[in-house]
Amino acid sequence: MKTPLAPSARSLPARTGRRATLLAALAAALLPAAALLGSLACQPRQSQASPTDGASAGGAAGKASAMRPVYSKSGYDVTPLPRATVEKLASRLDPEAYRITQKAGTEPPFCGTLLDNKKDGVYVCAVCGLPLFSSRHKFHSGTGWPSFYEPVDPAHVARKPDHSYGMDRVEIDCARCGAHLGHVFDDGPPPTGERFCLNSASLKFYEKGTPLPPESQPVKAEIAYFAGGCFWGVQHQLSRGPGVLSAVSGYMQGHLDHPTYEDVCSHGTGHAETVKVVFDPARISYRRLLEAFFVMHDPTQLDRQGPDVGDQYRSGIWTTSPEQEREAKAYVAELTAAKRFGDRKIVTVVEPAKTFWPAEEYHQDYIAKNGASCHVKDPW
Ligand code: FE
Repeated sequence: MKTPLAPSARSLPARTGRRATLLAALAAALLPAAALLGSLACQPRQSQASPTDGASAGGAAGKASAMRPVYSKSGYDVTPLPRATVEKLASRLDPEAYRITQKAGTEPPFCGTLLDNKKDGVYVCAVCGLPLFSSRHKFHSGTGWPSFYEPVDPAHVARKPDHSYGMDRVEIDCARCGAHLGHVFDDGPPPTGERFCLNSASLKFYEKGTPLPPESQPVKAEIAYFAGGCFWGVQHQLSRGPGVLSAVSGYMQGHLDHPTYEDVCSHGTGHAETVKVVFDPARISYRRLLEAFFVMHDPTQLDRQGPDVGDQYRSGIWTTSPEQEREAKAYVAELTAAKRFGDRKIVTVVEPAKTFWPAEEYHQDYIAKNGASCHVKDPW
């Protein structure tokens, strides 16, 4: 990362009296020229952009529509929003917030409404509501802009090179809507050493205990379990499902706690190699997962799948709700009635889920890591 161009958190003392004036001048000298054209007084400048302008901000948002859903590790849907959606959301902003978020503007230092906010809570994107920063990571940098040493989730804040005004900086944008947030510099405090320098106008603050709107909440995910032979390929394909947040290999429906792979392969524990699927029902239905499962493997093979033989390779659906159980059994009946597998009987077991025991780390994402092929068909 390039040398920072704004004052360092460590090098700037507290803002008092004449020193404050000097600091403000220093900070101002380091601002992009466009930000300096106005005075340093905290008055919103007239925006030259209107909410109906075609915006240039939002690199992520510009190429949105055909993308697969993207989820962050903290469980948020961070799929880039279509430009039309961003425009609609941005049209509700005041002109200054529109200028900053949609036209990569900068507010004058020591003017933002959130600079001195010391309350506990979360800072979300002013445009789309995605949580971006937490009060836990806020620090006094002395620069005049709200500063954080890390975002709530790295996947929520996109970075891109910014060579404007003859400087080499790293711009930060909302990963979901592309709103311009500010810049990140490498002169922050431990543990990251980074300083995320924000415009208050790009953020909205929710104090701890205040209910968050739906757009600021994680996905209301559901869980499904599928056993279709060796879990390597089943996990690989299910993880690719559009709307699947995660797929994890493990062992289920046995009678030994904390089973190891060796325990399960001894055929004495009753476990089936199983994949736990966490999915977003707003993006993919349980029915669609069932359809994929019955394409991926051969549900007519009893206690085996392809070259793998043994009860840990049995075909099974372990349900997490009466609705799932009903839907899974109805789908098996539907496939049977349609003779989807000819005269061969579907032997898939449908039963309520017991404890899921994650498999050893070397089994996770095995196909992605090792490129091995397997018996499972691509259902997507
Ligand atoms: Fe956003």
